[in-house]
Formats: sequence, C-alpha cells, structure tokens
Amino acid sequence: MELKIQLKESDIPRQWYNLAADLPTPLLPPLGPDGKPIGPEMLAPVFPMNLIEQEVSAERWIDIPEEILGILYRWRPAPLKRAVYLEKFLDTPAKIYYKDESYSPPGSHKPNTAVPQAWYNKQFGIENLTTETGAGQWGSALAFACKIVGLGCKVFMVRISFDQKPFRKTMMQVWGADCIASPSNQTNAGRKILEEMPDTPGSLGIAISEAIEAAVTDPTGKTRYTLGSVLNHVLLHQTIIGLEAKKQLELAGEKLPDVVIGCAGGGSNFAGLAFPFVADKINGADITIIPVEPESCPTMTRGPFAYDFGDTACTTPLLAMYTLGHAFIPPPIHAGGLRYHGMAPLVCQAIVEGLLKPRAYHQIKCYEAALTWASTEGAICAPETSHAVAAVIDEAIKAKEEGKEKVILLNYSGHGLMDLSGYDAYMAGKLIDYELPQQDLEKFTAPLNQLPKAEMRKTGKW
Ligand SMILES: *Cc1c(COP(=O)(O)O)cnc(C)c1O
Repeated sequence: MELKIQLKESDIPRQWYNLAADLPTPLLPPLGPDGKPIGPEMLAPVFPMNLIEQEVSAERWIDIPEEILGILYRWRPAPLKRAVYLEKFLDTPAKIYYKDESYSPPGSHKPNTAVPQAWYNKQFGIENLTTETGAGQWGSALAFACKIVGLGCKVFMVRISFDQKPFRKTMMQVWGADCIASPSNQTNAGRKILEEMPDTPGSLGIAISEAIEAAVTDPTGKTRYTLGSVLNHVLLHQTIIGLEAKKQLELAGEKLPDVVIGCAGGGSNFAGLAFPFVADKINGADITIIPVEPESCPTMTRGPFAYDFGDTACTTPLLAMYTLGHAFIPPPIHAGGLRYHGMAPLVCQAIVEGLLKPRAYHQIKCYEAALTWASTEGAICAPETSHAVAAVIDEAIKAKEEGKEKVILLNYSGHGLMDLSGYDAYMAGKLIDYELPQQDLEKFTAPLNQLPKAEMRKTGKW
C-alpha cells in the first residue's frame, strides 16, 4: 500500500470544474445599491473582464491555460496521503486520505487562485494588483504569484497582524510586494480612520476599503483588486484540488469517498476539494460533505441566509449567503482565516439545497486535534486546518462505533509554521472558547432586515 499517492505532471487536471453549471437551484444574483441584479460592467473598475467572465460563467468546465499549469507545476499535482498513523492511533476501520496543500511555496491552498488571478490580470494589460490580508496567508500567496507572473503587488495588512506577525510580512517582501499596515495614510479611507482613531488595531473591513480605493483611483487605470476567497472564480480555481484527489483515489483503488471534510472561512479550500464530489452527490452518490467553521464565528450553522455586503464599509455588491452581518466583529481566535462574517454564495446555495452538512467546533478541541495530528502524522497544521482535522477524528471514531470501513477525505489546507503563537497559547493553558451569545447574533443580523430578502430555493431532494 502506498502512503503517498502521486499523480504524474502529465495527469494534472486541464480544466476547472464550475458547480454553478450543476446546482439544482441556481444562485441568486448579486445586487447593486438599487437592489437590482448587477451587470458584469459594474465590476470592471475592480476586476479584469476575463475574470469577471469566469465569475458569471455557467459553463461546467473551464480550460486551464497551459501557462498557468506551467507555474503550478512548482508544487502540483499535490500529493494525496493516507493518514495511517492517525488511523492506527484511533484504532478505526476508516481509511483517512488527505490532500496536502501545505506543499505550495507560501504553505497553503491560496496560490491555486493567486496564480491564475495574477496571470489573467497580466493578460488583460494590468500592471499592479492590490489586496488586503488579515493573518498574512493571502497576502503572501498573492505576493508570490505577482513575483512569478511579473506584476507589482500592494498588500494592506491589518495593523495588529502587521505588528504581531512580522514574518508573513517578511515573506511578502521577499517576493517583492509592498506590505503596508492598514489603516495607512495612502488612501482617503485610511487617513479618515487614522484621524478619528490613531491607535486603532485595524480590521479586514478597513483594509478591504483601502485596497479597493488604491485600485480604482490609480490614474493610469492599470491597477486592479483581488480577493482570496468567497467569489465564484476563486472557488473555481481551487477545484483543481478535488479533481486531482478524484484521480488519486482511483489510483489507490477507492471508489467515491463516504465523507469529505474541509474547514471553511470564505469557503474556497473546502469548495476546491468538495465541489467535484458535490457533483457526484447531485448525480445520486451517497456522500456526507462537511464544511467546518469555528463556534465563535458560526456563519453557516447559526447565521441567517440573507443578502449582505461582503465588507464592513458596505462597498461591495449584495451577496446572497449565510452571514453574521457585515458589522460582525469576530472574537480574536487564532484561526484568523476563519473569521469572515459571510460565506461563498456557491457554498451557501449548496447548503440551502441540503447537499452539505456544516458543523462548528470550539478552538480548544481543534488544538487538541492538531496536537493528535502532530504526534501521529507528524506535521503541524494551520489553526484553520485544525478545524477539519477535528471533524476527521470525530468521523473516524464514529466509523469505529458503527463498525464501518468508511473512506474519509480531508483537505489539509496549510501548515501552521507561521502561526505558532496559537499553539503557544494552547500549551500554556491560555486559550479560551468563545460562544457567540444569541443577543449579539441578533444585534449584528438585525440590520439585514433593511436589505432585500434572499429567497431559500430548493428542490427538496436532499
Ligand atoms: C485562508 C485559509 C483558510 C480559510 O480560507 P477559505 O477560503 O475558507 O479556504 C483555511 N486554511 C488555511 C491554511 C488558510 O490559509
């Protein structure tokens, strides 16, 4: 039995999979400020038209340009591994496979979309990209992609992370990006906030406003903005993970998995692994597909399905999604990548249909799972990934109780070597679990009643 199932480079998937083509009930359209569906041209100041075409596409398969594959070969196809050491420790009949996305140069799945986004912008004649980053994972992935493709890159990094996570900033600088603490004095949005609150730790919402402003106000017109999750084209690029995993499971002699698991912040790594299997489920396969989120930011498990803004400053179109409200301030848990108030609309429509079974975990349980993983499989996972690992352990124990030889598939979204302060706090007994109080949930979601209603449409098949 092989523990690492490798694909040949010549077997890399040559098309991305678009779930929008197969969803039994279509996505609700994004709405503009007037409450009417937006047209592609409204996104043109922010994104290049070739990516906007992918964003609104209903084609099932979209070709991956050879030049993009030529860049991805640095770490793709990524290995599929069998977690036999964990299986033995748990004494489970389940077979646990994981797609190891920590192999990429920045250490997570994020460059799977950073590279195509940079490449399509370059094709369109764009010279510079802007973005925001919280913990620094997306910023470092985009910095890497821009360096390889040949674009300038400016990253607005939330001030508190800029100060507390200096090494992610260093990674961005190694790859030639300009990393700026947000709020900054480079934008009107930043200057206004600095005047009012000179000591603010910053927020993702502020950093998004700065990055969009920096892109749309460039007088040369050659700067665009990028986003690392949530949007349809981002999820599309990540499906290379699940498409590779499918071929690799076949090589391992497996049919379809029984359980598919990923952590979900904006939904991109989860969707990347899961969507090709959601297609099988739509076609009748019996697969349990589980996105996992933190109890402290319970978007899918407790939030309403509603139209909401993607950012705190209310500048984006309205998206139909599960949301905790755009003003939601998440507690300072260590899984920084899982602290977003909303969730990818494609993931949300699949939940509405009943195709996915979201669940939420507290962070102490997740760190326990991460330590179990480190002491069996060996690697130290990202705090985000630990949520998926915790669910895998629960499912493997359940398989033992049921006496079933289930096949469990996990997305190992990234390593935790840049996030050791969370492990430090856990081992020092300093971590606490935050449960979102019901009254806070109601307070943050009350303003959604003033926005257009999102209808929950489903076939009732699942
Ligand atoms: C950013 C990140 C996540 C969460 O983002 P998604 O878009 O939900 O995938 C999860 N894991 C790692 C390692 C990340 O860097």
